[in-house]
Amino acid sequence: MTPKRFLIALALLSSFVTAQTKKSTKTADLPRAIHESAIIVDTHADTPQRFLDENFDLGQNTPVSEGHIDLDKIKKGNLGAEFFSIWVEPEFKGHYAKRALDLIDSVYQQAARHPAQMTMAFTASDIIRAHQQHKFAALMGIEGGHAIENDIHLLRDFYRLGVRYMTLTWSNTNEWADSSGDIKNPDVPHHKGLTDFGKDVVREMNRLGMMVDISHVSDDTFYQAVLVSRAPVIASHSSSRELTKAPRNMTDDMLRAVARNGGVVMVNFYSAFIDQQYLDASSDPEKLKQRDAEVAEYVKSHPHEDGSPVGYNEYVAIEKKWAAQFPRPPLKSLIDHIDHIAKVAGIDHVGLGSDFDGVTSLPQQIDSVADLPRITQALYDRGYNRQQIHKILGGNLLRVLREVERVARQIQAEHKASDALSFEDIELMIHNYMTTPHLIDQINEHGVSFDLTSERREKLKGEFKDPQDADKVMEAITKAGRK
Ligand SMILES: [Zn+2]
Repeated sequence: MTPKRFLIALALLSSFVTAQTKKSTKTADLPRAIHESAIIVDTHADTPQRFLDENFDLGQNTPVSEGHIDLDKIKKGNLGAEFFSIWVEPEFKGHYAKRALDLIDSVYQQAARHPAQMTMAFTASDIIRAHQQHKFAALMGIEGGHAIENDIHLLRDFYRLGVRYMTLTWSNTNEWADSSGDIKNPDVPHHKGLTDFGKDVVREMNRLGMMVDISHVSDDTFYQAVLVSRAPVIASHSSSRELTKAPRNMTDDMLRAVARNGGVVMVNFYSAFIDQQYLDASSDPEKLKQRDAEVAEYVKSHPHEDGSPVGYNEYVAIEKKWAAQFPRPPLKSLIDHIDHIAKVAGIDHVGLGSDFDGVTSLPQQIDSVADLPRITQALYDRGYNRQQIHKILGGNLLRVLREVERVARQIQAEHKASDALSFEDIELMIHNYMTTPHLIDQINEHGVSFDLTSERREKLKGEFKDPQDADKVMEAITKAGRK
């Protein structure tokens, strides 16, 4: 090869290489590649009821009319991790924790049945590891704080079983937190947000490393939760109230408060939460009455032999049929919500909380989890780039989960550094039959780490047979002061 010919060949080769490199960069920035390279995390799916009540197996590829999630659809949608909802229907009164435990077990059962395709996950690192192993990661969140039966010990047990978020309320106000679902119902006793115990629940969640989920809660509960929480909060499945006036959607001020708190709002896909026209049509009181009567009739005529309540999943077909009379909103409505939250709260504070298998209507083009690539495509068409889309699809949630884990480690280290007695320490000593004089010695020696609120006074009074003992202990606590 003459030098001249060599140079020409070299020039040709280098232009070929440049073209190839340019082409590959470009390909990586195309929607399909953006979607395929993302770690996608969805924070809310109600599939566990199907596992438990219908014996549904994730390996079954069922029609979208029956379910939004199965292993085939997960693969098509490239879903990396799902937070399965441990949703305890208020009808299970008296058995909330048992119902939650059964639902938790149903998720573990799925992971055990499909070890090649899925795995349980408990941390942000677990989600990433599962992704590297090409496995779908299953996580769990409790929906409805009533599941802990007003017992902090149960909260800790649920954490130990792998629960990584708890929605402080569902649509029902519980004994320590108000819900947006019944806040206007005068027959329901409310607390103006969180009670002292409710605030302690938030603090204990921080200490454990369980994400505080403010979806469903009343506005007062929301503002108090972000104030008390030392870790970022999440809304596991909530959309924008500015765009769609559903009371459990979030106002722009709330979005800004979550941004300041470092948290993330995961957009709910339900038609009535993302489209005002659909919400108006489906809120017609006459039509609602007709639906509720039909459901009530079904529940009445299908009682369980053991007296357990008839679950949502048994009559959901009626609700789906009813919902189908209202036209599905365009995909644009869902994208508008993501876009709005990204603009008001910032690109670091928005994600996806589909509510799959828990809603009776989804926007057009989203029939199941298999259609997630359409969301990426639509965001891309609006000008979102690869990095921004990756944040929305899962990056933001992973950041928050990591931060929640870090804050928990920090709080646990602080607790170790201080030997002041917590209220629970004192309760434990009483339960272990420590004599009152000994208990008072301990209080004098170590001091206490809490304020003696009226709620705690009431609780202490109930712990002692002799009211004088309770008075002496409370006096010692007051004297010891908060350390
Ligand atoms: Zn919900």
